[in-house]
Amino acid sequence: MIRMNKKGRLFVVSAPSGAGKTTLCEKLVRTDTDIMRSVSMTTRLIRPGEKNGRDYFFISAEEFKKKIKNDEFLEYAKVFGNYYGTPREYVEESLNKNKDVLLAIDVQGAMKIRKKMRKRCTLVFILAPDIQELKRRLLKRQTESKTQIMMRLEVARHELSYLKYYDYKIINDNIKTAFKKLQAIVVAARCEIN
Ligand code: 5GP
Repeated sequence: MIRMNKKGRLFVVSAPSGAGKTTLCEKLVRTDTDIMRSVSMTTRLIRPGEKNGRDYFFISAEEFKKKIKNDEFLEYAKVFGNYYGTPREYVEESLNKNKDVLLAIDVQGAMKIRKKMRKRCTLVFILAPDIQELKRRLLKRQTESKTQIMMRLEVARHELSYLKYYDYKIINDNIKTAFKKLQAIVVAARCEIN
């Protein structure tokens, strides 16, 4: 594999809930051993089927605030009333080992990473084909209440206004094609000369 960058780079993936971000990100880290997925910390409640340390590190608001004070986050944000943050140490260690790191985070976090990392990051936004399809997918997965779904759709509309700050957008109307696009973006970014 041709790698022209000396150090690892960050791939930031954002998407409205239901756009297929988790599936695409999991597939990417499974098939590309040079990219590590950063596991975020959150104060939200664990959902059925989730595992502490795999999906997130689930911690209390008190612990989270302590970590903010100790500057343990590369970025953090409040999303849907809960805190989410990227552990700084894991990301920095991986980058220094020449590994790329994948962050699946919201638009606020992505903007913070862009400011900090400038050219050492690539921002990718994943979209569902349209808002109706997004609603359908959220209803189908049954992990949120109807009120939460309405809130997530409202937030999705707001997040779209950040699209212009992203380097790439992928419309996920077919998971196979969307994944190929994501892989192509990773390959292209690795060949950039910074
Ligand atoms: P969920 O609760 O559905 O897993 O995630 C809600 C939102 O929080 C998603 O947009 C997800 O990408 C975002 N998120 C997850 N981890 C982080 C993080 O470490 N930082 C930020 N800023 N957002 C995150």
